[in-house]
Formats: sequence, C-alpha cells, structure tokens
Amino acid sequence: FDQLDGYIWFNGEFVKWADARIHVLTHGLHYASAVFEGERAYGGQIFKLREHTERLHESARILGFTIPYSVEEIDAACNELLVKQRLEDAYVRPIAWRGSEMMGVSAQKNRINLAIAIWEWPSYFDPEQRLKGIRLDIAEYCRPDPRTAPSKSKAAGLYMICTLSKHAAEAKGYTDAMMLDWRGQVAEATGANIFFVKDGVLHTPVPDCFLDGITRRTVIDLARRRGLEVVERVIMPDELEGFEQCFLCGTAAEVTPVSEIGPYSFQVGEITRLLMNDYAEEVRPRQRMAAE
Ligand code: PMP
Repeated sequence: FDQLDGYIWFNGEFVKWADARIHVLTHGLHYASAVFEGERAYGGQIFKLREHTERLHESARILGFTIPYSVEEIDAACNELLVKQRLEDAYVRPIAWRGSEMMGVSAQKNRINLAIAIWEWPSYFDPEQRLKGIRLDIAEYCRPDPRTAPSKSKAAGLYMICTLSKHAAEAKGYTDAMMLDWRGQVAEATGANIFFVKDGVLHTPVPDCFLDGITRRTVIDLARRRGLEVVERVIMPDELEGFEQCFLCGTAAEVTPVSEIGPYSFQVGEITRLLMNDYAEEVRPRQRMAAE
C-alpha cells in the first residue's frame, strides 16, 4: 500500500506517495497518540467534509493535542489533493500524530504532524456479498467504558479492539463483528454503526461509548424525512431475535445490509433497501444547473 501512485499531503506539502515516510520512534506508533478521519468523495466532492474535519480537530483535543492547521486549511488541503490525485470517487484519510522528537509515555513537546492520503476504495465490503447481507460474529472484546478510554475521539488506539475483533470474525468465516459495550449492550460493528428494523420502526443504540457516526446521523435524518420512526435506545443482545432487518452504516461501509449476527438471521428488507438508495443519492453532489 505504500507504493501507490500520486501524492500525499504531508505537513503542508505534497510529497510523492512512496516518499511519505516517518521514523520508527514515532510516538504515535508506540503509544497510539494518533487520531484520524475517514471520508468519501463522490463526483469530485467530499461528503460532509467540514463535519469530518471538525471531528478530527475534536478527536485531537480529546487526546490533549492541537493540530497545527485550521479546519479551513485542512478542508482546502483535502480538496486540493483530491484534484491532484485525479479522482472523483475516492476515500480520504487524514491522520494526525505525535512525532519522534522525544521517546517515552510523556512527549508533550513532540511535533504534531498531519498527513492526508486519498485513494480509490470502491466498496468496503465485497459488493456481491453486500447486496445479500453480510454475516457478523459477536465479538469477545467490548467497547470500553468512557472512563477507560476516550470513546468520543476517533483515536487510533481504540481500533486495536476493532482489528482484533474483525480478525477473529474473519478467522471463523464471518465478514465483520458486532461489538457489545462494557455493560453488555449492543454497540456497533468494528468500523460502522448498527441499526435494526422491526414493524417498520428503526432502532439503534445510544452512542454514549462509541462514535456517533456522521453516516449514522445522516441515515437517521433520511429515515425521518421518509416519515419513518427512529428510536435511539438501549438494545440488549437477547432482543436480536425479534428484529426483522439489520444494517451497518459508516463512511466506508455506506449502508450495508446484515443477514446474520451469530445465531440470528435478518432479511434484506424494504426499509434497508430504501435507505441504501436514499444514502447513495444523498452523497452525490446535486446536479448542476443547466446554465452552469
Ligand atoms: N464506528 C466506528 C468504530 C468507525 O470506525 C466508524 C467509521 N468512522 C463509524 C462508527 C461510523 O462513523 P462515520 O459514519 O462518521 O464514518
């Protein structure tokens, strides 16, 4: 992956993709002092770019550091890089981390670096599988109590349990895993939020110890615009049996139907399909006026 074509925006400059390197004693690598974003561009426009960049700043603030570029500067860098990469539909990954000036848990003076990479990432899950619904394992690791980890930050460190859970699921033949939280409540997947449907009503867990995803909020909006009821509430795993449909949503995953979670099965139903389509339409830039 470090040999792709094109450029990476690296601390204010465009460097050749393969030359965007850092030192092995980088604090972010040893102690996970890194925060990142995941964004998608559709038709040459990054969907909800400002919201993502603001979340990046907020994620860094929660981890006790300040990104030395303003939200406006980061937005401009993402847009400029998208053009430079000659991509219209693409995935956008900004990442900020503490540098390698000092070694040790405390590294207050280490430089805060920022890099942005953009590449083609058409489908997070296999497209064919996606339409049939993906199969989820139930993860052994739980989303931690917010007193244990800064769960509102899109912090690299929090992804350790996600990678472990996803690898364990894949080893058992599943595509992804559903994670419970430390109280045993349904939380989310390893890189996406989760929704259930029953009797025409959407149910989704309260995001009090995991990301309140930008896609999650978009989907709630789209569902309400369709006149659908959306209930944010505590969902216990023993309720899974009673739900008819289930889907994941996230920037990379978009809206992805789920056909199984452990022993429970779901249909790829009408509401899931409706929201898949509504989301696909919502992210496309509006048609330009004929006069333009
Ligand atoms: N939860 C996790 C763990 C994620 O990695 C993501 C993807 N960023 C989400 C939820 C969904 O967030 P968003 O819709 O903002 O991409």
